[in-house]
Amino acid sequence: MTDVLESVKALADGFATTFKHLFRKPITEEYPEYKRPLPVRSRARIILTRDPNGDERCVACYLCSAVCPVSCISMQSTERSNGRRYAAWFRINFGRCIYCGLCEEACPTSAIQLTPNFDHCKREILSMVYEKEDLLVDHCGKDPDYNFYRHAGISTAKRDKGEHINEFKPVRVKSNLP
Ligand code: SF4
Ligand code: SF4
Repeated sequence: MTDVLESVKALADGFATTFKHLFRKPITEEYPEYKRPLPVRSRARIILTRDPNGDERCVACYLCSAVCPVSCISMQSTERSNGRRYAAWFRINFGRCIYCGLCEEACPTSAIQLTPNFDHCKREILSMVYEKEDLLVDHCGKDPDYNFYRHAGISTAKRDKGEHINEFKPVRVKSNLP
């Protein structure tokens, strides 16, 4: 008799739980209608940002392409008449990118940044190759105040680079090349 009572109680408990859930608000988040906001440090779609003056931050130093473990970044460097370098073209193949974030770590100018925007996948693999015009944005991204040239030194009307107080003369990297 005890066994029968225990079975009936277990059955009643089960039905009670089911009944309770019938009136609960569903907590399922429907994607893509609802896109859950991800933390700002999430690593997904890559952008090229600008400095606080609105100039392109990228100085085409090739560090990001050198560090990329899957070799999915390529570019061609060039120089403005004032000597400032920039990328004539810049390309990322997102079909190969593994979103490791090493390019962002290596970048001295904070130009290349990974964003939490994760839903840019497409069926056509060739459309995953993004050119500079697809990557370059009109804001500073995660580092709104960072300007590489303020740290690397600038020429002023009174003094050249390396002539200000406590400054060293800049290294001429091209003279180091074999
Ligand atoms: S996130 Fe990693 S794999 Fe993707 S471009 Fe940067 S270094 Fe390469
Ligand atoms: S994105 Fe950064 S690391 Fe890559 S070439 Fe430009 S300045 Fe150098």
